[in-house]
Amino acid sequence: MNLDEELYREIIMENYRSTKNKHTLEGAVRHHEGANPSCGDDIELFLMLEDGKVTDVSYEGIGCSICLASANMLCDAVKGMTLPEVDELIGMFKGMLTREEEPEFPEELSDLEAMQGVRKYPLRIKCALLAWTTLEEMLEEGEKQ
Ligand code: ZN
Repeated sequence: MNLDEELYREIIMENYRSTKNKHTLEGAVRHHEGANPSCGDDIELFLMLEDGKVTDVSYEGIGCSICLASANMLCDAVKGMTLPEVDELIGMFKGMLTREEEPEFPEELSDLEAMQGVRKYPLRIKCALLAWTTLEEMLEEGEKQ
């Protein structure tokens, strides 16, 4: 294991162990579920919006370390963002995992790069993406209303 991989692993475990964002959100305006049956990941996302900005976001559910770490990172990352910014970030995260694109996350979101390590394990890519595709679906659903 090289230094990068070790660092990535540490960041993922740190996010997995954090329970800061793991709770339901009273009064959430949007709520969406996502599942990844091949692994047993099953999560719910809660979102609060004000003036087109994400004021709070949380998740609940069960999942493997990669899935829950990714959900925690997502919550930390999108808090305070406008919806177009969230859209752009989802696109970048998915690009990194599914098209092997070099991500250009802002400095304060560099922890997200740790998920690059998952690219080597194709079966786990879905785990890393679950929270992000769930958020994407939630936002698409909101647009239709
Ligand atoms: Zn999983």
